[in-house]
This record gives sequence, structure tokens and C-alpha cells, in this order.
Amino acid sequence: MLQGMPAEGPSTPRPEPVTDLDWDPKRARRFADRTVDLWQELLERLPELPVAGPWRDEEVRTALAREVPDGPMGEDELFEHLREMTLDWSMYPGHPRFMAYVSGTGTVPGGPADLLAAGLNMNLGGWRLSPSGTEIELQVVRWFADVFGLPQDAGGLMTSGGAMANFIALKTARDQKCGWDIRNKGLGQGPPLVLYASDEVHVVTDRAADMMGLGVDAVRKIPTDDGFRMRIDLLTEAIAQDRRAGDVKRFAVVASAGTVATGAVDDLEAIARICTAENLWFHVDGAYGAPAVLAPDLKPQFAGIERADSIAFDPHKWLYVPHSAGCVLVRDGLHLILSWITAPAYTMEDKERTGHGTDFGSMGPQFSRGFQALKVWVSLLAHGRNAYARRISHDARLARYMAARVEEREEFELALPVTLSICCFRYVPPALPEGTDGREAYLNELNERIMTEIQLDGRAFCSNAVLKGRFFLRACIVNFRTEADDVDATLDVAAELGAKVDQELRPPDLRSADR
Ligand SMILES: *Cc1c(COP(=O)(O)O)cnc(C)c1O
Repeated sequence: MLQGMPAEGPSTPRPEPVTDLDWDPKRARRFADRTVDLWQELLERLPELPVAGPWRDEEVRTALAREVPDGPMGEDELFEHLREMTLDWSMYPGHPRFMAYVSGTGTVPGGPADLLAAGLNMNLGGWRLSPSGTEIELQVVRWFADVFGLPQDAGGLMTSGGAMANFIALKTARDQKCGWDIRNKGLGQGPPLVLYASDEVHVVTDRAADMMGLGVDAVRKIPTDDGFRMRIDLLTEAIAQDRRAGDVKRFAVVASAGTVATGAVDDLEAIARICTAENLWFHVDGAYGAPAVLAPDLKPQFAGIERADSIAFDPHKWLYVPHSAGCVLVRDGLHLILSWITAPAYTMEDKERTGHGTDFGSMGPQFSRGFQALKVWVSLLAHGRNAYARRISHDARLARYMAARVEEREEFELALPVTLSICCFRYVPPALPEGTDGREAYLNELNERIMTEIQLDGRAFCSNAVLKGRFFLRACIVNFRTEADDVDATLDVAAELGAKVDQELRPPDLRSADR
């Protein structure tokens, strides 16, 4: 006899229905309506709400702590809880004055699309569990492959974000280029694997190397030029050196198409040429920048992206889709399957009989998968390509506008010209003596504190970049609510808090004689 629960014999009574969890559609609608009312209130009040608050963790934890009840919580009480969570204890990447990190606004149609995706609750791991969902995800992938100029047999899939998209691409690269059956035999069957990226590459490339068992040191960091682009001469040299030494297997170059610090776009044409000549996989990390190909004025910076073997990009960044939504594209879709397919006995299917299509669960590390593609698809359909092109271009124009204002104002210094939509600048007190020892160290300390004060202040929100040892304030505009007034206001806040922090922090030896 099989182990387990005792068999239910003829004396076992017939189970009565248990319906607590199955709300009737009218009740479902009422519940959803109250959520939508709250969402509307959030959208209405957003510009007046602080971007973030000066909260400490215990405070938020205490305010939101609830016992999970044995019976249902009353709806009024539950919605009071959600309202507090939403309006009192959240911060808002969709706020017009949020310009930090790379965090998109959240498209408006993306929200309801997510509700519908959850309502359907399909599993996009398998075609038969998500016929419409899989076909929509395929259309999303196809559309982006066309946008980037990849060929017809390109493949790809939605991911949780750029970290996972880059990981999937790099493992696919590893498996294709290493030259042995690495999926079954592991790393021990060959020499150490190495890949190349600039020293401005996002840390998720290091993490991918770690997750693949290569170790972070497998990422050869190539120095960058004054514009923070990979030095092509030094890339060529590093590859040649590894070739001469002959003790490692080189498999890929990661080009950054929009670095996270400054938005620098590596010379994709040159890197593509080198990869072709050296039989290396050409991967583009465009998590932040790649959607800028939709804007005709920004597209020329990405020349060569159409030659990529793989591209990672994030709809939840510069396509403004609500978190989370990343995407990876692979030039030859078959490579993706070769790297990820496993065939567990319990997913057997006779596809000749059923006529079913792609199983996304065979194309990446995830098995069960949600319908993230819907919010991307609905956003694209509801807005259309031109609205995206206009707004992406506008974000970049606002960043250039910010750079121009920074250059005009005596209390600020611009780090470098804007390439995409990131403006890096720092506060330099007008009366700070030039040429003193300790000046740079003080400016770093001062600007670090200014960033913290801005983030606690709530009127604006920016982050930082450390560029060749200097600490800069950094505004990254991937926000369709930001306008010139918000840019001006952010600079005003930085100037005001800068003057205040300078008063408190400046050491006596950096005070000029006339103060
Ligand atoms: C944001 C970012 C990543 C990581 O993407 P997530 O969506 O945060 O996982 C990788 N590379 C670059 C260039 C990025 O800007």
C-alpha cells in the first residue's frame, strides 16, 4: 500500500463545500473598487505628497504591524490599513520630483493590466497553462527584437528585472562559447572562464559571474575614458594578453548601453567588431538605456546594438512600466532553449497532437511564471510608440536643461555633459578656498551629507554617483511626470540644504579669511 493519508473508505462522509475564499463577483468588484478609489486618491494627491519621509524602520514597522486574525478583518479596517500604508508610509518613484537611481514612474495603464493578469492567474511557464499570455509575451519580445534590429529568429523572455536578464544572457553565452558540455559536466572540465566589461559596468555582471560559479574575478574590468566609456584599445589589449597567456577561456564582452552612474554608452560598433573577430559573445546591458532607441534623437548613440548576441533591458525603468519587468533578448532564440531546457517527467506533452507552442519555463531559470508581459503590452498599446519616443526624448532634454542650470549657478559644478537622462553635479560652496589640501575630501563629505538630507527632506529625491573618486549628486529622469519646474525645484532644494550643511560641517582650515 502507498504511504500517506489513510484511504477514504465507503464510510467516509461526502465533503461539504468550503467557500470562504471564493468571493462572489459582486463582492470581488466592491473590494477592487475600493482599491481603485485609493489608487485614484494617490494619483490626485501625488504632486502634493512628500516624495519620501524621514522615517526610521521601527516607526514604519510599528505603524503597519497587524495581527493576522483568525477570522476575516473587517473591510473598513482593512482599507484604513491600506490607506495608511499608501498615503502615510510609502515613498513614490512616480512623484514628479523623484529622480533617483533608475526607477520608472509606473505607467497608469500598467496598474489595471496587473490586476487583470492576477485575475486570470495564468502560469506562463507553459503554453498550455497560458495560451493568450504566452502569445502576448512572444509578441512583446518580437516587438522589442524589431526595435533593436535583431533578426527574425531572435528569442527572449520577460524577467524580474535587469539582474535576472543579464544573468540569463550571460549563462547562455557561457554555455554557447565555452566549448564543452558545461551544463552537465560543470566548470571543472575546462580552463577558467573570463569575460570583459568596463569598470563602470553594473554590479549585476559581477553577481552573474558569481552565480555561474566563475567567481567575480572572472570579470575583467576594462578602464573607461573621460566620458566613462570602455577604452576599446585597452579591451583589445586585455583580450590579447589573455590569448597570449593561454590559460583561460574567453567567452563574452558585456557592453554597457547606458551605465548606471552617468548613462555612458560604450562604443557598440567597435565592441561588436572585436567580438566577431575573437569569437566572443557580444552582450549589451541596456537595463537603463536601451529603450532610448525609441527616441530618434538618442538612437544614434546605440549604433551597433543590432549586432548583439543578447540584450538585457528593463521595461520597469525607461519604459515606465510598474515594477517589476525586465526582458532579455537573444539573437538566436534556440540558444536560450539549449541553455535552459530541462524535461521533468511530469510536464509531458504531445505537442504534435495539441498544437501548443513555446514553453517559457524552458527558456530561463524560472519554472512557474507570472504574466508580467501584460502590463508591458497594455502600456505599449494604450500609449503607442510615438508617445514613448516623445517622452523618452523629453526626459533626456530635461536632464540637459538641468545640466545647463547647474552650469549657470555658482554653487554647483557639473560632472560631465549629459548623454542620456542622467545629470551628475555637486554642490561647491561659493566661498570655499581653492587649492587647499582637504578640499576634495571635504566636498565628498559635504555632498554625501547633502544627498542624505535631500532624501530625508521630502521635497525632492535624487541619488549619487562616485566618479573617479568624487562624490556627485545624481538626477536620473525616467519619469513622465517630471517637468522643468521640478528640475528647478530640485536644484533649489540642493542649494538650500547645501548651504545649511556647509555651515555645520566645514572645518576651520577651509574657512576663507573673509568669512
Ligand atoms: C538597473 C540596472 C541593472 C539591474 O537591473 P534590475 O532591474 O535592478 O535588476 C543592471 N544594469 C544596469 C545598467 C542597470 O541600470
